Amino acid sequence: MVPQFTDSFDRRFYYLRLSITDVCNFRCNYCLPDGYKPHGTANKSFLSLDEIRRVTRAFAAAGTEKVRLTGGEPTLRRDFTDIIAAVRENAAIRQLAVTTNGYRLARDVAKWRDAGLTALNVSIDSLDARQFHAITGQDKFHQVMSGIDAAFEAGFSKVKVNTVLMRDVNHRSLDTFLDWIRSRPIQLRFIELMETGDGGALFRKYHISGEVIRDRLLMQGWTQQARARSDGPAQVFRHPDYQGEIGLIMPYEKDFCASCNRLRVSATGKLHLCLFGDGGVSLRDLLQSDDQQTQLQARIAASLHSKKQTHFLHQGNTGVTQNLSFIGG
Ligand code: SAM
Ligand code: SF4
Repeated sequence: MVPQFTDSFDRRFYYLRLSITDVCNFRCNYCLPDGYKPHGTANKSFLSLDEIRRVTRAFAAAGTEKVRLTGGEPTLRRDFTDIIAAVRENAAIRQLAVTTNGYRLARDVAKWRDAGLTALNVSIDSLDARQFHAITGQDKFHQVMSGIDAAFEAGFSKVKVNTVLMRDVNHRSLDTFLDWIRSRPIQLRFIELMETGDGGALFRKYHISGEVIRDRLLMQGWTQQARARSDGPAQVFRHPDYQGEIGLIMPYEKDFCASCNRLRVSATGKLHLCLFGDGGVSLRDLLQSDDQQTQLQARIAASLHSKKQTHFLHQGNTGVTQNLSFIGG
């Protein structure tokens, strides 16, 4: 039996966020304002289906119980449904989620569910079609909303929606979002805008703390829920009058990193110990055959000793993360 992946601060890693492509068809102003442009990794292909199978097998054997597929836009991969099935070959991985811009949901979500997808996060920063277009560069609001309906029809009992909180863009729209989730089982998660290498000016203009939302929720009778060990970083709030929930992701809050339970692997097979970490540890040479699994696990376990206690974002450190499409948000 392989020991659980653990770091020097005794944090255990139950959760792997796996990027499967850098490519994206949206141009969100806080992520890829000029659209996707191949960068330094352009000549390196993204992980193949077999490499994805091997990396998730290694993580599953060392205690990972939840995997999130992300990117770029993960659903742009033609073999996306096969990827879902390959990850679910691991019995230990009981939760398999995707974070998506929702572009392919209406067409494909039932297929993904049949292949073994268990959870969905869809990114929607505005419930106004014109503002959605202005933020994402794509006039696809109605298509994405139909995709959410299709997810419920396909049998998902809950959908999570990610909303990047931006000052004067959507931070005063709480009531509109609350109306939307009153009778829908949607967990709407406000994510504080994070500073990236490309986005310094945007960050200074639009960043606002999630506290503005938390204060209003508490005033209106919402209560915070306890967190399970493989849950993501959101603080979750419920209210008896609402079917939906509100999540808050506040990476700038003190002690955000103390409960870190996740590791990341990039689309080209590098292990990243933190979204805002170092250059990453390449795993690719150990993903070439099934009999390398022991060596692969040993490399990951050894790398974990250099995971730092916190991300140092407060000091303006953005690590190598030029934008979040690179190793997935
Ligand atoms: N393309 C998919 C999507 O948009 O859902 C998956 C990748 S995207 C990088 C993952 C999440 O990161 C999205 O919810 C997105 O809104 C969020 N994100 C991107 N850049 C961000 C930033 N600078 N600060 C906070 N969240 C960000
Ligand atoms: Fe694409 Fe997601 Fe980045 Fe938007 S947030 S540009 S959809 S990768």
